Amino acid sequence: MTPETSTSPSRTALVRRARRINRELALLYPNVHTELNFTTPLELLVATILSAQSTDRAVNMVTPVLFARYRTAADYAAAGREDIEKIIHSTGFFRAKTTSLIGLGQALCERFGGEVPNRLRDLVTLPGVGRKTANVVLGNAFGIPGITVDTHFARLARRFGWTTQTDPDKIESEVGALFPRSEWTMLSHRLIWHGRRVCHARRPACGACGVARLCPSFGEGPVDPEVARKLVKEGPFS
Ligand code: SF4
Repeated sequence: MTPETSTSPSRTALVRRARRINRELALLYPNVHTELNFTTPLELLVATILSAQSTDRAVNMVTPVLFARYRTAADYAAAGREDIEKIIHSTGFFRAKTTSLIGLGQALCERFGGEVPNRLRDLVTLPGVGRKTANVVLGNAFGIPGITVDTHFARLARRFGWTTQTDPDKIESEVGALFPRSEWTMLSHRLIWHGRRVCHARRPACGACGVARLCPSFGEGPVDPEVARKLVKEGPFS
């Protein structure tokens, strides 16, 4: 047990400020959503696997063709490597991703009747699926709250002082404890959107940031509004 228990004043202040930041981000980004295009849990699972080391925009360029050709888990299980490799080539790491997609189709057919399971502990047993991918699918395809710790989420959670961890599982657990479960999925979207647009890894646009007055890391990037405004990237990123 740390000296700060869950009821200590500083813990209370941390929770209060964290929730305020979340509320402010909700006002700033009322329409946040995953920037990957999908219509079914399987499509989102595949798109999320493809998004590793890639951009949502690059994934959205290849998925229309992929999803038209491969509609079910059985289609992926029976796929020819070269065909998938050709379609997803531009997303990078296409050989490893192809292996994951074929293995995913086989695992879904063998163990889950061809359906994407809606439990974290099942999802993480699938090829190419870690907690991050599993939480994306749970939150966005099944409406089950999940925290998605990607590079943006991790950076912003540390800048907000919500965690000092670098391990994604520990970040997920520490940040999750600050918010009601019902907020987890939208909180993830908001942090990722803010990270992509304003709070960049290098040179965050502090002077143009809507949550600057609540952020303990204000000043990590330029605070001059003119300079900061030029650093803001407009979406969409898909
Ligand atoms: S004030 Fe700066 S560090 Fe804090 S969230 Fe805004 S851009 Fe990021």
